[in-house]
Amino acid sequence: MRKDGIFIAVEVDDGVAADGAIAAKLAEVCPVDIFAAAAGAVEIVEKNLDECVLCRLCLDAVPDGVRVLKLYEDGAAL
Ligand code: SF4
Repeated sequence: MRKDGIFIAVEVDDGVAADGAIAAKLAEVCPVDIFAAAAGAVEIVEKNLDECVLCRLCLDAVPDGVRVLKLYEDGAAL
């Protein structure tokens, strides 16, 4: 799953997105609510994408399966 804002895109691998525990963890760590846990799965909250503060907390919480892409740097991964 991938969603794009203007400056930031977030990708979550399908196997990770369907994991309720990971969804809850991502929803908890992101300070600007880019992730929500909906029906036991990860939801990317599109309207909040460009609020990303590049804190890497989501990447630290889920090292494999989540990517934050900087669209303003040609899509470079955070
Ligand atoms: S880097 Fe920080 S602000 Fe950006 S999506 Fe991850 S947890 Fe949220």
